[in-house]
Amino acid sequence: MQKTIISVKNLQKNYGTFEAVKDISFEVYQGEIFGLLGPNGAGKSTTLEIIETLREKTSGEIIVDGINLDTEPDKIKRIIGVQLQSSGFYPGLTLVELINLFAGLYNQQVKPMELLHLVNLDDKAKSKYKELSGGQKQRFSIATTLINQPKIVFLDEPTTGLDPQARRNLWELIKNIRSKGATVIITTHYMDEAEQLCDRIAILDEGKIIALASPDKLIDDLVATGFERPKQVKVANLEDVFINLTGKEIREE
Ligand code: ADP
Ligand code: MG
Repeated sequence: MQKTIISVKNLQKNYGTFEAVKDISFEVYQGEIFGLLGPNGAGKSTTLEIIETLREKTSGEIIVDGINLDTEPDKIKRIIGVQLQSSGFYPGLTLVELINLFAGLYNQQVKPMELLHLVNLDDKAKSKYKELSGGQKQRFSIATTLINQPKIVFLDEPTTGLDPQARRNLWELIKNIRSKGATVIITTHYMDEAEQLCDRIAILDEGKIIALASPDKLIDDLVATGFERPKQVKVANLEDVFINLTGKEIREE
């Protein structure tokens, strides 16, 4: 039996009269990588930020690791890691300084070099945040989510805007975080990413969950309806060509 670590029941969020999230319910299991997929404006970030205690909900019940969000949000904050938008980092501080700053805020002892090693930024320890490339900034922001040794890590579109190598590198990093025992909840609109990475996904559209299952199951269900791709798909795609020509190594360092 899978253990439920996040339970969302009948969640609703209105912005004024606009219903951004319309009565959604789902569970995230301990130790899985759970994906929230959907087009822009579907309500992914709203849902995530409500669970992260950063946004008020309109109604519904949320339990995170047995803790009720309505009564003990501070307890939830202590067991989760939330990726900040890049604007949350002082651009002129070095990576080690930033990690120490966050560790202080969380009241945690950390070894900055160990964290930087985990995200492959050993060489950048003394660099300033503003000097990092896009992929390095993303990896660094993921490192900061791990400072308080969270049970659950929330990543909102962590690979948007990255080149193919940097995306693959982040997938490995996210799998690595999960293999150390954390549960990961991620939003993305890259379907290849969801297929590669997620154990289960919920597809959100206009504030409603329209599908929830493993990527495999969703594909099998579609095929079972008689669906076929209109064109014979080639055995490789343009991204394969690109990776094959330019290699898998990260170039930005
Ligand atoms: P997603 O992350 O899936 O792109 P969001 O959760 O950011 O979607 O937004 C869902 C909907 O709610 C969008 O239509 C967005 O414009 C609207 N929305 C998000 N934040 C606010 C806000 N603070 N005030 C009003 N509307 C908002
Ligand atoms: Mg969003």
